[in-house]
Amino acid sequence: MDKVKHIAILGSTGSIGTQALDVVERHPDHFTVEVLTAQNNWELLVQQAIQFKPNTVVITNEDHYDKVFDALDSRDIKVYAGDSALSHVVQMEDVNVVLTALVGYSGLVPTVKAIESGKDIALANKETLVVAGELVTKLAMEHKSNILPVDSEHSAIFQCIVGEYQNPIEKLILTASGGPFRGRKREELLQITKEQALKHPNWDMGAKITIDSATLMNKGLEVIEAKWLFGTGLDQIEVVVHPQSIIHSMVQFEDGSIKAQLGLPDMRLPIQYALTFPDRFKADYPRFDFAQYPQLTFEKPDTETFRNLQLAYDALGKGGNHPCILNAANEIAVSEFLKDKIGFLEISDVIADCLAKVSFVKQPSLEDFINTDKETRIKALELIK
Ligand code: NDP
Ligand code: MG
Repeated sequence: MDKVKHIAILGSTGSIGTQALDVVERHPDHFTVEVLTAQNNWELLVQQAIQFKPNTVVITNEDHYDKVFDALDSRDIKVYAGDSALSHVVQMEDVNVVLTALVGYSGLVPTVKAIESGKDIALANKETLVVAGELVTKLAMEHKSNILPVDSEHSAIFQCIVGEYQNPIEKLILTASGGPFRGRKREELLQITKEQALKHPNWDMGAKITIDSATLMNKGLEVIEAKWLFGTGLDQIEVVVHPQSIIHSMVQFEDGSIKAQLGLPDMRLPIQYALTFPDRFKADYPRFDFAQYPQLTFEKPDTETFRNLQLAYDALGKGGNHPCILNAANEIAVSEFLKDKIGFLEISDVIADCLAKVSFVKQPSLEDFINTDKETRIKALELIK
């Protein structure tokens, strides 16, 4: 049997995408890259294509198609452009794992298409499960597609439950760094600039998730992601602030025992585990040294200051298209904050307003999600103007 993983990396030019290629490069006998995709960074896409020799590349921003095509003209690499090409390439016969490292809602449709053609998913794009977790996990069961978590917290939980499948989970404990503004109160957050919010204490990530970490929306999205990945109830998911980001998350079983997964914050580890599960490949990533961390500390999240976490719990509790509204409103609010159009605290106001105003759909289809996403983006922009 061919044990080599043939990988499509959606979003190969981003933070997760480039780290995934680092993992691939370390294990050339086990991984081959079939597809690479980028949105705007066509120069890096071309460089990656020359180095990793995929079968196909996609540049979703069609304005860059000619440049990519010309740069790869002499090579045996197909070049496609546009969003719809993503849905096409994930179905290619040669691909057996799709790593979804796109940012935001853009991951939903290509992930659904990959699942429908029976591919395994290494899921970094948490927004896919936030928007349509019930539908996506149901499709994955129907098509026997495995969804392997890349997000460090979910990878930690996944690692804790290996060998425990017959033992019910009592509680998932998601750890959160607390972001750069941990400990501050609302009055102290009024004047926050994007430069301050873009400085994460422990992780170097793309801009959108870095802002989500500062507002605690990232943890809210991860609560929803955990619910769909592990099938627990909302009241079984607890968030604990752990500023050192060494314990990546924990599982409590019905006898009261808690298992934790630890390590230095380095996304290559969970990316690699998603690609090698159930095996572990030898790697020389820096090791954790207990002597360097005399204290690992824990505290309760402050959901009064960081309202987004509570908004996410409430959206999941309400169900239907509410998590989809939450996600779309957040994407717009974060993007407008990054353009200096709204303040840091107003991000939560926009989300709460959209949740109150966009029409509720109890049992949404894929089409309903697409419409809710559109409607919410329009509403959020109206609220901001
Ligand atoms: P980045 O912003 O660094 O990278 C995003 C990638 O997706 C880039 O390749 C970008 O292309 C491409 N892209 C962006 N928008 C679109 C679009 N509309 N259509 C198609 N392609 C697009 O993000 P991250 O790598 O930080 O995050 C990716 C996902 O992984 C997110 O869902 C995030 O929440 C999740 N995640 C990230 C972690 C991290 O450490 N970074 C940790 C855990 C989860 P280009 O650059 O060419 O424009
Ligand atoms: Mg995470």
